[in-house]
Amino acid sequence: SGMLDGKSALITGAASGIGRAAALAFAREGAWVAAADLTLEAAQKTVAAIEAQGGQAVAIAVDVTDDAAVQAMVAAAVSAFGGLDCAFNNAGIAPFQVNAGGVAAADVAEEAWMRILDVNLNGVWRSLRHEVAQMRKQGGGAIVNTASIAGLVGLRGSSAYVVSKHGVAGLTKAAAADHAAENIRVNAVCPGYIETPMTEDSMRRNGERIMARVPMARMGKPEEIAEAVVWMCSDRAGFVTGACWTVDGGYTAV
Ligand code: NAD
Repeated sequence: SGMLDGKSALITGAASGIGRAAALAFAREGAWVAAADLTLEAAQKTVAAIEAQGGQAVAIAVDVTDDAAVQAMVAAAVSAFGGLDCAFNNAGIAPFQVNAGGVAAADVAEEAWMRILDVNLNGVWRSLRHEVAQMRKQGGGAIVNTASIAGLVGLRGSSAYVVSKHGVAGLTKAAAADHAAENIRVNAVCPGYIETPMTEDSMRRNGERIMARVPMARMGKPEEIAEAVVWMCSDRAGFVTGACWTVDGGYTAV
């Protein structure tokens, strides 16, 4: 039997990297998975992979910067599975995706700053608010947000990203406090450098320098993040809320 047997789970950013690995891991642990990403076609590839391993999933198109779309995403997950037990708010973008990589804090273009905050922080808040609305109707649930080591320390040249991820850590703690009485747990995972499309570019350019700072001297695999997320969503984590679980090969320990 799986750790998430009989639970329904919604995952954003489920088409790629950490979100895709989590979607597959959730399904393997017995959850029904609603896989949400920017395009339906991309989300459907994750669904096909889940079905190929014998799981059940639906694909949902969403842009987490659009509140109406986020509300519709939660409604679609609920209508597919009759409720929402777990949510993994994971969609995010990196500084280089808006030409703000390697730019000092004072020099970031306003548009890039606003965009990163809107996807990475406000997108998590929009998701969380509609998930909580459903979970409080059902009498509880478990939410995990993707923060980062950038939510714990001030990575150089990534200020807007750092602020967005510190914000996710703050939202996680505040929402955990606010919704504990409603039996809704809210936690975060803080990944270090993980092998996904998001890090391909910076690893190609600065890989050796970055790895020299990681005690384990390697990148993490998306599946190694999924392990922590599955556990935090499961009933085994019944007393865990407001936690930010670092999975970084020791990066922030030294
Ligand atoms: P990824 O680029 O492989 O996947 C991110 C997914 O989010 C993509 O499928 C993308 O389409 C989706 N997405 C982007 N903007 C969206 C939007 N507006 N609405 C809906 N979906 C959107 O990256 P990843 O490495 O898997 O990143 C997942 C999360 O993990 C992000 O929040 C990222 O900041 C965080 N993170 C990644 C690393 C790492 O090293 N890869 C480290 C720490 C934190």
